[in-house]
This record gives sequence, structure tokens and C-alpha cells, in this order.
Amino acid sequence: MPTMGALHAGHLSLLRAARAENDTVVMSLFVNPAQFVDQTDLARYPRDRERDLALAEEAGVDLVFAPSAEEMYPPGYQTWLEVTDLGSNLEGRFRPGHFRGVATVVLKLFTIVRPRRAYFGQKDAQQAEVIRRMIRDLALEVELRVLPTVRDADGLALSSRNALLSPEERKRALALPHALATGDAVSARALLAESNGLEVDYVEVADFDPPVLAAAVRVGSTRLIDNVPLEGDPQ
Ligand code: AMP
Repeated sequence: MPTMGALHAGHLSLLRAARAENDTVVMSLFVNPAQFVDQTDLARYPRDRERDLALAEEAGVDLVFAPSAEEMYPPGYQTWLEVTDLGSNLEGRFRPGHFRGVATVVLKLFTIVRPRRAYFGQKDAQQAEVIRRMIRDLALEVELRVLPTVRDADGLALSSRNALLSPEERKRALALPHALATGDAVSARALLAESNGLEVDYVEVADFDPPVLAAAVRVGSTRLIDNVPLEGDPQ
């Protein structure tokens, strides 16, 4: 299970599933510079290695792979994987190069760890879709497991970036799950337009598996993404 650390209950639910379904569980802990478009975002990304290692142990992880950036991208590194169309939509439009960094690091993690199954969260629906496409396109022998988004009691999707919100920003951020809960892009856009001080990057229905209503907003200097699966087309 790939992670960037600052583990929360969303990560732990994936680890729990991995623990239940496999003999050996490997978790990676790597804040992947290649998937950060904004260097400030990379610098302020929450990191707490000791706590993460303790939580991983508690969750029954057998091995934590925590490479340095230099190990993953040694001098002269120049090989990149691009999932072209999927990687340039939605999130890709606002974070050009993000999914190139994601696909490349996940493929490299797969090559090193050789997992039978890999665990991802529905929270990052487009990321799961990019990985699904990569697995198909490159005929990788990895079974993709995507697990539901874990939320706080008030509806906010758990995210390592939530730690960067002030209490007041966190309250404002609730407009995001409230808007998505309408399940309708027009209503969600209207609700977000009314809410105080949220900058909307996009609110779109995406034809993923399953289809989702997805959105990205900025609350102060923190960018949050979330989505809800839509009923209907079983494809
Ligand atoms: P990250 O450490 O943010 O790269 O996340 C590692 C994995 O945990 C990714 O597959 C995420 O989609 C997943 N994840 C993050 N937040 C949640 C959440 N609230 N519920 C379920 N999965 C999550």
C-alpha cells in the first residue's frame, strides 16, 4: 500500500483490508517530490515518520519501505510514465505533471515490492483510475483494490492536508462534502459559489469506474479534493 505518510483513519482502513486479505503487507512511506507541482506544497506537506511507523506496526504491516528521494530518483534519473488523456483531465489540468509523478512512482514501487494486490482510496478517484489504466495498458500483474472514502463524523473526507487547516478553515471546508452530497454538478457549483471564501478549481462529473461527482477547492492556502460515487451506470 503506497502512502505519503501522516497516516489517518483513511490509510488505516486500507491497511486493515490489506492485512485481512494477504499473508504479507508492505506499506511505502514516501512523500514523492515528482507528484508535487508546487514546491511550497511539498515543503509544507505534513510529515511524522515516528508516528507513522508506530501506526504501521499497530496495523500489522510487515514491512515499511521508506526510501529517500535520492534513492528513488538518483542523479541522472530520466524515465517517466505518462497516462496521457486521463492524466491531463480534472486534477491534471490544475496540477500538470502530477499524475506523471504518481504513475511513475507507483510503477517503480510495484517493480521493487512486486505486490500481488495494491490498495488505493476512492478519496483520490482519479488517481485510482490512472493506476487502473496503467495496470491494464502495461499488462501488470497486480490486482487493484479501491476502498471507500473514510470521513470524519461531520462529513469532511480525511486527508493528511486537513492538518494544515485552521479551525475556522476546517469549518469552511465542510461546504465541499455538503455540495458533493447533492450528487449533482449544477447544485454543487451553486452551493460552493454561496459558501464563504472557498475558491473552486472544478466541480465535474467524471466517467470513472464508478462514475463520480468530483471537486477541488482551495481553503486559504490548502487545496482539498473530494468526490462521491454516483449511482447508475454500472460501468
Ligand atoms: P496519500 O498518503 O495521501 O498518498 O494516500 C495514500 C492512500 O490512502 C491513497 O490511495 C489515498 O487514496 C488513500 N486515502 C487517503 N485519504 C483517504 C480517505 N479519507 N479514505 C480512504 N482512503 C484514503
